[in-house]
Amino acid sequence: MNEKYPFQEIEPKWQAYWREHGLFDVDPSQTDNKYYCLMMFPYPSGTLHVGHGRNYIIGDAVTRYKKMQGLNVLTPMGWDAFGLPAENAAIKTGTHPRESTLNNIKVIKEQLNTWGCCYDWNREVTSCLPDYYKWTQWLFIRLYERGLAYRAKAPVNWCPSCATVLANEQVVDGCCERCEAVVEPRELEQWFFKITDYAQRLLDDLSKLDGWPERVKIMQENWIGRSEGTRVAFRLIPREDGAPDAQDSVPCYTTRVDTIYGCTYMVLAPEYPALSEMIKGLPQEQAVLEYIAKSGKMSRIDRTADSTEKTGVFTGRYVVNPYNGETVPLWVADYVLMEYGTGAVMAVPAHDTRDWAFAKNYGLDIRISIQNPEQSLALDEMTGAYTEDGICVDSGPFSGIPNREAIKKMTEYAAEQEFGGFQIHYRLRDWLISRQRYWGAPIPMIYCEQCGLVPVPDTDLPVLLPDTVEFRPDGKSPLAQSEEFMRVDCPACGRAARRESDTMDTFVDSSWYFLRYMNARDETRAIDTDLCDKWLPVDQYIGGIEHAILHLMYARFFTKALYDIGLIHFDEPFAHLFTQGMICKRSDKDGQLYKMSKSKGNVVSPVELLREYGADTVRLYTLFIGPPEKDAEWNDQGVEGAFRFLRRIWRKIYDHHELLAQAKGLTPRLDDMAGPERDLYRKMHETIQRITRDMDGDFHFNTAIAQIMELMNAVDALEVTPESPESCRAVFRETMETVVLLLSPFAPHIAEELWQELGYAPSILNAAWPLVNEAALHRDRIELVLQVNGKVRGHVMVSADADREAIEAEALNDEHVKKWIEGKTVRKVIVVPGRLVNVAVS
Ligand SMILES: [Zn+2]
Ligand SMILES: [Zn+2]
Repeated sequence: MNEKYPFQEIEPKWQAYWREHGLFDVDPSQTDNKYYCLMMFPYPSGTLHVGHGRNYIIGDAVTRYKKMQGLNVLTPMGWDAFGLPAENAAIKTGTHPRESTLNNIKVIKEQLNTWGCCYDWNREVTSCLPDYYKWTQWLFIRLYERGLAYRAKAPVNWCPSCATVLANEQVVDGCCERCEAVVEPRELEQWFFKITDYAQRLLDDLSKLDGWPERVKIMQENWIGRSEGTRVAFRLIPREDGAPDAQDSVPCYTTRVDTIYGCTYMVLAPEYPALSEMIKGLPQEQAVLEYIAKSGKMSRIDRTADSTEKTGVFTGRYVVNPYNGETVPLWVADYVLMEYGTGAVMAVPAHDTRDWAFAKNYGLDIRISIQNPEQSLALDEMTGAYTEDGICVDSGPFSGIPNREAIKKMTEYAAEQEFGGFQIHYRLRDWLISRQRYWGAPIPMIYCEQCGLVPVPDTDLPVLLPDTVEFRPDGKSPLAQSEEFMRVDCPACGRAARRESDTMDTFVDSSWYFLRYMNARDETRAIDTDLCDKWLPVDQYIGGIEHAILHLMYARFFTKALYDIGLIHFDEPFAHLFTQGMICKRSDKDGQLYKMSKSKGNVVSPVELLREYGADTVRLYTLFIGPPEKDAEWNDQGVEGAFRFLRRIWRKIYDHHELLAQAKGLTPRLDDMAGPERDLYRKMHETIQRITRDMDGDFHFNTAIAQIMELMNAVDALEVTPESPESCRAVFRETMETVVLLLSPFAPHIAEELWQELGYAPSILNAAWPLVNEAALHRDRIELVLQVNGKVRGHVMVSADADREAIEAEALNDEHVKKWIEGKTVRKVIVVPGRLVNVAVS
């Protein structure tokens, strides 16, 4: 055995061993004790930094731990390989996205290997390769057949820099999530998935997800945004010039119909579809069109922010409030969004903050219809909207009713009078999946003049990406430039037709990859129903909190849709979810703490760390850095500390190599133990108990590792030599074995090597996770805190079964206590069993 800890030698050796012996390969037909441990598959951009590493190191630690517990762990890996960055790079460098992506995959795969992160590579999936995207296309057609994929003209978020449409979720503070350019609205024909059909189920089934963090469920619930309210149609007053209207009323949705008698105007969103028709030829037309154009340049976030000045223009049209028959003016204002409700809002300035700001700005009427029962409202004294509950006033037959009650009555009235009624509204919108980009799965549809939209027949899949296109960010799909790609015969009538030139959002690829791992090489079908039913839902899903909404919502939607289609027989994909926090580092530029990124100059590359300290150190530090669900700060000194700890364990076994070898096979017997060895034996079993609890609970690797460190301190406290009694040597040997076993999920290379040094055949993965000996936990003597008048004055060891009287006597006899109670009167002695004794004196 080498005196120095030779991580450079042992790490590649064990990596090769695990691979060659297929220790992570799984026969999927063996489903006894199955455990599907899945990490979110990475987007292969460049190389991984230590912040990225957290996800894979956590997943690998869980996998190894579960394997040692005797579970049949499936842990596959793949690549979310389509997407914008590779295409943007192609525009800059001319390198084909396929080439750069496949190169990156090779590099990252090797990185994962050098970290000791192991997978069943037999089932690797790569979403940008035809053997995967063929089936993404096949699934698209299944959704289309069920009416879950449709085409519609829609206002979209346009990133002028990426020259593509972005999903609402990809717009952050009005800017493109990827390139941070300001996003503009546009109108385009787009493909959508009808996720809104599943809104209620996506909401209801959150209650099934006991193994999900509460905060993620709340984020999903808010994203779905269910509200109950009232639909009310305001009749549109016909135009004076007699020109007809496409619609004779303007419906709106409100959760506060109780305020409707205070409605003094109505507002349309600038994108309201019928708006331009409604104002055609009116004197106001020009002003309205200019306003629409102007607001089109503003981000949605700015439009609705409370701090933004509320602007708008009068349309020249009027509508009638069906409750009181009053005519109110119709305005257009950009604080109303098309996404919310119907794109039309009844405005009640007295009881809505934004309406108040708008009415004040334009001198519109303000009318109180809810009175504050505590302190009567008067218009000339109000400085803002009154949005609390109260009593309906000036509200016709509803006057005098508490407003919450009035909501129900007024909604019923709308239904009776047939101008509205109860309505459930969801914030969730349909999923826009069209991208006018090259590097994605082509949408497998054909446009025929004769037959209209025709899906590509299954037998013609995949629709392959053409190899040669120019990567120009001009807003048209690069696919449309390829005549060879676009030209196709209509599968229905045989006439010349055109292909769809849009590709799919990469979130489609990641919505089903966890199913494909079951039959990654299967050329005959997308999904192996039988294997999926046996192995899924995924037992443990691990990924970043940044995917808490989109990816997880889409994957849940896909799972439910495929369940309805009958391709799988479970309707939630992930039983347990763990979302790790980000690793941050202080920026050299301004000393602030940021998530690691090139632009902040605070990226830590693993290359040098691996060379200097080895993978086990990097793994141990990454897991020790803090509670894994929280963000943590990377600190180079911490890495050094982790290294020293591993070296210390190595040295301990090196220094006692012979003794340990001789003690192999000795069994520690509780009856024979005394003093320090009994304490160490108990400490070891306490450590096993706590670490197992930490691993089974919230993956608190940091406290688990701290427990191993404490156990090593206890080992150091034990004096052991070849002359020590057998029981002492036996306890020492078993403790060192336990240290190595407990360490192995976190630092697997050194654990394998030391396991072998302890005389066992590899692999330690086949060794059982240590079990707690309950009898060992028993304590003969326990330590109590001694207090005088509530202040800690000392500690005392008492027999574990001492009664109250005996404890009292011990406490009062203690030197430290005596000092503090001398010359005083003891009023009372309080004994908290197992914890403390407090002596009250005066
Ligand atoms: Zn962009
Ligand atoms: Zn046709």
